[in-house]
Amino acid sequence: MPMSASKRYFIHTFGCQMNASDSLRMGEVLSQLKYVPAPTVEDADLIIVNTCSIREKAEDKMLSTLGRYRSIKMSRHALIGVGGCVAQQEKSRLLQRAPFVDFVFGPDAIGKLPQILERVEKDRMRVVETAWMDSEHYLFPRADPQTARGKATEFVTVMKGCDNVCSFCVVPHTRGREVSRPFEEVLSEVRALVEVGVREVTLIGQNVNSYRGGIPFAQLLRRVAQTPGVERVRFTTSHPHDLSDELIEVFADEPRVAPHFHLPVQSGSDRVLVRMRRDYTVKQYLERLGLLRQARPGIAITTDIIVGFPGEDEDDFLGTLALTRAVRFESQFSFVFSPRPRTAAGLHEREWGTVPHEVKIERLERLQRLQREISAEIMLGQVGREVEVLVEGPAKHDPSKCFGRTPENRTVSFDGDTPSGSTVVVAIHAASPNALRGSQRRVLQPADGSHRSARERC
Ligand code: SAM
Ligand code: SF4
Repeated sequence: MPMSASKRYFIHTFGCQMNASDSLRMGEVLSQLKYVPAPTVEDADLIIVNTCSIREKAEDKMLSTLGRYRSIKMSRHALIGVGGCVAQQEKSRLLQRAPFVDFVFGPDAIGKLPQILERVEKDRMRVVETAWMDSEHYLFPRADPQTARGKATEFVTVMKGCDNVCSFCVVPHTRGREVSRPFEEVLSEVRALVEVGVREVTLIGQNVNSYRGGIPFAQLLRRVAQTPGVERVRFTTSHPHDLSDELIEVFADEPRVAPHFHLPVQSGSDRVLVRMRRDYTVKQYLERLGLLRQARPGIAITTDIIVGFPGEDEDDFLGTLALTRAVRFESQFSFVFSPRPRTAAGLHEREWGTVPHEVKIERLERLQRLQREISAEIMLGQVGREVEVLVEGPAKHDPSKCFGRTPENRTVSFDGDTPSGSTVVVAIHAASPNALRGSQRRVLQPADGSHRSARERC
């Protein structure tokens, strides 16, 4: 092995859970090369920036981060690699834009990091590795369960890529065609995670409910939920057109499937939805949600919304506000439209009608104000109640407190010193639009020996 035992790596991750999960896999590959994590980027011999290209801003942030890391490269002779979606999109152009970058690799090339590093270090080459892996031969990197030891919750990748053609979205160009992971592999990874103490798994993919890994997604969810030791299952992200009756049924009769559904709607205007190529109407979206709420009363619904999509007028936007009021989303991620390369909406923005930047910002603020009011009301409704919380560890803002989530995915911090992995009952006495605070009443399910309490961790 060419690397010495003391080399240290630092991975800076931008973007979604898929990127977070990819970064974990990168860390695992690097540990096989005897790399260890660096406490700070200044201590690293190898810096990897795992990028996101979903919006232009994400790319700008990545470039300014790279600029900051340049001086570390100069002082320590650290290597710098760029992975993720910008790498896939820009390929060798990235080496021209950032001449101090040593290598660029796409999401399918994580397993090739050893060969890439060897070429960079030994042959002093700048490397670009962005080939797609043929769908049939794609091997999902298997998570090393040891990296999850002591964690209460973990992501499990069930598919990659996306076969939809939403007109605003760059993902099909950066992550390629949909490939589902065989269900036996998913179940075996879940069992291995449970063995090291994980209690909650989140199945992830760009479009998980179009999963085709040997069984339909609804059955996969059921089988994961029924794995001994699994307390809760979540999944993200889903497309409304794949919200099948079978999936709704699972919510009705499998209590370990957590009562939270992230269902991006994108707009409350049918006219805009057609241009977005989302293939559902607002009415259809509301009907599916109605069935879901019947199947699991109290289920928390969250969403993604884009404002200022080309051609969106005030009436379209009022439709989005009306939909937000009608659904009463628990929370939403809302974004201003950002034109992306090779997407239909990016290419036709002018022709369809560019929404001026100040109008986009003003709409975003109105939407976010409304959502904050709704979120605050929902959270305030929790005050005085007792809720079930899976403890994830110490609270970031105050490590003497514990942090965890309710089944609806509401975040809770509370007084106590309970090990992560425990499930406890917390009495809620305060709320903000995005967090609850309370005090622990009793332990429902203690953690096993692999978990540590907040105080032990500090
Ligand atoms: N697969 C999910 C779905 O179908 O809804 C979404 C995945 S995408 C990575 C996350 C979110 O980014 C989208 O739901 C959308 O709201 C937002 N997004 C994607 N492209 C965008 C763009 N060009 N401008 C602004 N927001 C965008
Ligand atoms: Fe992008 Fe999601 Fe549409 Fe796929 S389904 S193209 S990931 S927005």
